[in-house]
Amino acid sequence: MRRLLIMFLFSSLIFSQEVVSYKIKAKLIPEEKIVKGEEIIIWKNITSKPTSEIYFHLYLNAFRNELSTFMRESGIERFRRKDIEWGYCEVREIKINGIDMKKKLHYVQPDDGNIYDRTLVKIPLDSPVNPGESISIYLIFESKLPKVLARSGYSRDFFMVAQWFPKIAVLREEGWNSHQYHRNSEFFSDFGKYEVEIRTPEKFKVVASGVKTNEWKEKGEIVRIFKEDNIHDFAWSASPNHKIFEEEFSMKEPEVKTKIILFLDRDHLRHKERYMKIIKKSIEFFSKNYGPYPYKTITVVDPPSHALQAGGMEYPTLITAGTTFWLPKGLLFLELVTLHEFGHQYWYGMCANNEFEEAWLDEGINSYSEVKGMRELFGEKTSVFNIFGFKFGDIDSQRLSYISIPSFDPIYRKSYEFFSGGSYSVNSYSKSALMLLTLERYLGEDKFSKIMREYFRRFQFKHPKTEDFIRVAEEVSGKNLKWFFDSFLFSDGTIDYRVERIMTKKLRKPEGKMDLKFKEEGNWESEVSVVREGSISFPVNIEILFEDGKKIKEFWDGKERWRKFKYVKPSKVISAIIDPEGILLLDRNRFNNSMTLKKNPFPLGMSFKALALFQSILFSF
Ligand SMILES: [Zn+2]
Repeated sequence: MRRLLIMFLFSSLIFSQEVVSYKIKAKLIPEEKIVKGEEIIIWKNITSKPTSEIYFHLYLNAFRNELSTFMRESGIERFRRKDIEWGYCEVREIKINGIDMKKKLHYVQPDDGNIYDRTLVKIPLDSPVNPGESISIYLIFESKLPKVLARSGYSRDFFMVAQWFPKIAVLREEGWNSHQYHRNSEFFSDFGKYEVEIRTPEKFKVVASGVKTNEWKEKGEIVRIFKEDNIHDFAWSASPNHKIFEEEFSMKEPEVKTKIILFLDRDHLRHKERYMKIIKKSIEFFSKNYGPYPYKTITVVDPPSHALQAGGMEYPTLITAGTTFWLPKGLLFLELVTLHEFGHQYWYGMCANNEFEEAWLDEGINSYSEVKGMRELFGEKTSVFNIFGFKFGDIDSQRLSYISIPSFDPIYRKSYEFFSGGSYSVNSYSKSALMLLTLERYLGEDKFSKIMREYFRRFQFKHPKTEDFIRVAEEVSGKNLKWFFDSFLFSDGTIDYRVERIMTKKLRKPEGKMDLKFKEEGNWESEVSVVREGSISFPVNIEILFEDGKKIKEFWDGKERWRKFKYVKPSKVISAIIDPEGILLLDRNRFNNSMTLKKNPFPLGMSFKALALFQSILFSF
């Protein structure tokens, strides 16, 4: 009985609530760039309300013509292409519980009303699906892959087959969560079980999400079966010009056993060891810091140089990376992209937030982890490149991106509602990463690492929301952090502290009729003025240095626009620096955080010299 109870607890902790199962048979017709598919979906209503409709994503219709929402948002002219280069996903047949529903299927556009967009379909049901009930859906579909763009498609005879099958949307307590495919958005779907049969001409090698459980030849074709549970998407890649390298990986503390599968373009064979090394280091870093990697495989697809658009993307248990024929060791792009995409197995794959609505939970948390991982593996100042004496670290790279555009949006915003693609990226990636790094420095690294571990533990195989992250951060830190998230996550406000001026005056004996005996406290009077630009405040220390070497640390809550610190001392103030510990990484201009009266080439204590130079160059244009 006890054992059973433990097993029950164990299973409820570790596994997702399985909502859906997909059984797909797919056949690749390479000459036509088409995948023909047959799909059986068993879908269960796990909410407490009945539903009388269902929604499907047909993501490849984003590439159907120039008028799709994706193309319109991208800027049409950029995507003019030949017929063969467009893509689509066509439902040829659909039966629900055995009843033909093809005529009831219609396209809907809840986000923007664009009647030309066919990325989302709605099907009213003959009878509602009650809570706890399941329905079976049978589909025949045809997916035409576009010339590779935005993560999927073909290039010559390389195929990155992603977002390729009709996929049911997510029913939540508040109703269906279903969005069209947008230029600046990724995806959202339920966890489930996948079993996919992939049939290709014999010359093609194939890798896919999950574990290959069977393979056989049949009339000049190879049929392969892939299976996995607890995933919410399935992608695959096929190419005759790739080599497959496999290595078992295991570690203790925490215990991880998995197989690394590398799908390497034949022109990139020289990078095999770099890929293998970084993927092992990534598994170690994430397992150690957040929780053990639980899946039986991790597959890395290396797209050929003519298909780099397929690179740098994540799918459950399969990632796409990217490199070029020549990539010297000091340029760490291969490592950075691989580690980043592997990180998404945690922030997207297992903690599966809604990427349409809260992209910071996957891209932001993952960029934070990326900075930490790259720093641990390659050093803080050298984690992007370190070549011919030129060095650049990931934190500086995030800072540079953060300050590169004005703040028009809060981080918390639907992906497709940002001012621009740039604003979406900066907020979802860099600003979010810097926000978390700031919070980490503010709360302390130990405390923050407990927050991250707890967030992962609590939401592995679930769909966390922003409020879940905040709740974990507050619970684990024991602090009310509403002010912090209100300022940096929910507001588009900015912050920039500046040392405005340092004034010093040599004191002499006062003149005039003295009523009291003059008490001499020091020979110098100094005044340091600091100001805050922007609407956000954050508590900081200010370090004041006197000529005789003495230091004073002042605290400023930053609430007023300015503050003056006055001293009468034997020695005069020669420098002041705001936030000397470098906690507030969201300060938009750190170049003006310090001032010194000495004739130094750089102000004292400036920890972002290279960055500040970049910044002043940027500002001068
Ligand atoms: Zn990412």
